[in-house]
Amino acid sequence: MTVQDFASMSIAELAQKLEKKELCSVEVTQNLLKAISVQDERIGSFLKVDEKGALAAAKSSDERRNSGSSLGVLDGIPLGLKDLISTEGLETTAASKILQGYIPPFDATVTAKLKSAGAVIIGKTNLDEFAMGSSNENSAFKVCRNPWDLSRTPGGSSGGSAASVAARFCYGTLGTDTGGSIRLPASFCGITGLKPTYGRVSRYGVVAFASSLDQVGPMTRDVESNALMLQAIAGHDSRDSTSINAEVPDYQAALGKNIAGLRIGIPKEYFSDGIRADVRAAVERAISVLEAGGAVIKEVSLPHTKYAVATYYIVATAEASSNLSRYDGVRYGPRLGEEQGLNQMYQQTRGQLFGPEVQRRIMLGTYVLSAGYYDAFYLRAQKVRRLFAEDFTNAFKEVDAIIGPTSPTPAFKIGENIDDPLAMYLNDIFTIGANLAGLPAMSLPCGLSDDKMPIGVQLIGGALDESTLFTVAHAIEKELSIKEVPFNPLSLGEGGVRVD
Ligand code: GLN
Repeated sequence: MTVQDFASMSIAELAQKLEKKELCSVEVTQNLLKAISVQDERIGSFLKVDEKGALAAAKSSDERRNSGSSLGVLDGIPLGLKDLISTEGLETTAASKILQGYIPPFDATVTAKLKSAGAVIIGKTNLDEFAMGSSNENSAFKVCRNPWDLSRTPGGSSGGSAASVAARFCYGTLGTDTGGSIRLPASFCGITGLKPTYGRVSRYGVVAFASSLDQVGPMTRDVESNALMLQAIAGHDSRDSTSINAEVPDYQAALGKNIAGLRIGIPKEYFSDGIRADVRAAVERAISVLEAGGAVIKEVSLPHTKYAVATYYIVATAEASSNLSRYDGVRYGPRLGEEQGLNQMYQQTRGQLFGPEVQRRIMLGTYVLSAGYYDAFYLRAQKVRRLFAEDFTNAFKEVDAIIGPTSPTPAFKIGENIDDPLAMYLNDIFTIGANLAGLPAMSLPCGLSDDKMPIGVQLIGGALDESTLFTVAHAIEKELSIKEVPFNPLSLGEGGVRVD
């Protein structure tokens, strides 16, 4: 078996090879580390690679296996974490200069859960600063490129998480999704990303952006791997007061289930004129696959969709302005202007170490919360948010899942939208609804665009019903999974990457 063969495996396939001792975790990890060291310079998906920690974890995993005490399917599997998920002893920056050098003294619950399942944490992936963005261009440290075409963005904010999985640097990553940050990059990079129900996965130890919207979720190359990762991280956590105390079903049991009779809703608002023809055609093919499998397709309406972007950018910035007040130069990271007194210290630290998009959001958020504007903006947005939840409640009276595009276009070029925040925000139009309503939603590949870029189809489910999403996604994947890979995995030369 060549390195290329095992780099493209799913988590379950690799787990089997490890179990049969045809491969060991150390050799897999070593090869991935080598690939990252040679290739990631061009892609920029990792902010930090933890060679030492990864090799030590891989070694322990092999030892456990050899002594017959393997921890299960994730034992020895190399995974990555978005760099706003706390890792004990390993720098966690949220891609911001204000957290540069911050080494958390504890693991986030999701990190601890993956570690106790035996996973090998290979490194921390690139993102938009504090997860604010749709292209990864807001990272304070480096650009991340789309492995399918290096002149394009991988999407954001979990761009590095998506790119590293697409580039076969690891078998899965965790991202976070506040308004689409798992699903948009998953769709741009041709992988599968799930934002679970709000509260399904603990947010303890995850750097907060907008606490009522943030959710951690798995990003993988296939649906089964995604289910395996969710299984490992889902569940109640007493350290996150918003985490839901509900039983976690067996997600693998949802795969391969018959979809006959399942009611699938097509929101008419998601097929507006703004969606590109090749995206629409690919999503329609996914719908036909479900129809051919016996699903009942129905039109539904989510009438408030047109208010999604405006509502989200009020609620999210308001919460961000409050969450980010803790970065004051006192408690975390570097401190500037100390010798000039307290006010200067705050001003210089925050003024120089937060990037322009983060500053824009703090100002917008502070404005919508300020006396005199609170009722007109923030309170109003909260009321509209309620209407979104009602739209979905009504739709889910008639259907079991909703299907539509993840984004109106495939990955755009680096630099294309960066000077126009509004154009950038509009990429989130179809993903934001699920965050505002707290519902689970996923994106998986359903074909390639006319210019050979991946296209994602989005599925939205009822609260806590990730299982139905896995069932439907698995049925689509069986027929429409993308066979092409972005470039020859682990090729150490130029590979097939297009550089325009
Ligand atoms: N693109 C959206 C934003 O910039 C969503 C980000 C996210 O989900 N973290 O806010």
